[in-house]
Amino acid sequence: MNKPDIHYTDAHTHVPVSDTCAKCIVCSTQPQDWGNIIALSKQHPNIIPAIGLHPWYQQDQHSDRWDQLEDILQEHPQCLIGEAGLDKCRQGISPIMEQQKALNKQLELAEKYHRPIVLHCCQAWGKLLETIKNHSHLTYLLHGWNGSEEMIGDYLKYSTYFSLGSLSKHWDTAIRQIPINRLLIESDGRNETLIPMYEKIGKGLHLSSADLNQIMINNLDQLINNTL
Ligand SMILES: [Zn+2]
Repeated sequence: MNKPDIHYTDAHTHVPVSDTCAKCIVCSTQPQDWGNIIALSKQHPNIIPAIGLHPWYQQDQHSDRWDQLEDILQEHPQCLIGEAGLDKCRQGISPIMEQQKALNKQLELAEKYHRPIVLHCCQAWGKLLETIKNHSHLTYLLHGWNGSEEMIGDYLKYSTYFSLGSLSKHWDTAIRQIPINRLLIESDGRNETLIPMYEKIGKGLHLSSADLNQIMINNLDQLINNTL
């Protein structure tokens, strides 16, 4: 198969990273990923690392983990925080109160080190919005946006970016409401879904995939540099 002639921006992915990534945010989900993702970002300047504790993986949450996370942030000024968040869908994970605690801790670190934070959310968009209200000056990447149409306006009051992926159910209505400078596109590790997402969203916005990609690169830069 021929390689695509443009490389695409991926606002949220995991390892292994596709070799067609133009610029991508690679998220960790738990402490055992942290070192690996930092090392990868040193080898590949197009990789922006995000280090955090995902709501599915909070079993080993203790204070030295947070110290370790803080050390990494101090040492790597380009490192974002994530993926963190709230999940009411998945069975057998930490209760929502515990998830909230871990999220709050990561928000504290985002404030202290002025870093954008990548958020995961499943059926807790209202609760997540309340949390954001308490940290209203941070920059957020809402990955895999699946919130309701009405909520887009509520989230837009804050410095939020909406990242759409193959599991975003209402992407076609969302792209009409999300201002284009707040939009991002992601694979979430399903690398084969990225180019079809660019094609679908590009079609919906009457843009070529290449032009859309250029806009996504600018948006990602704006997010990383907190310049919204
Ligand atoms: Zn993810």
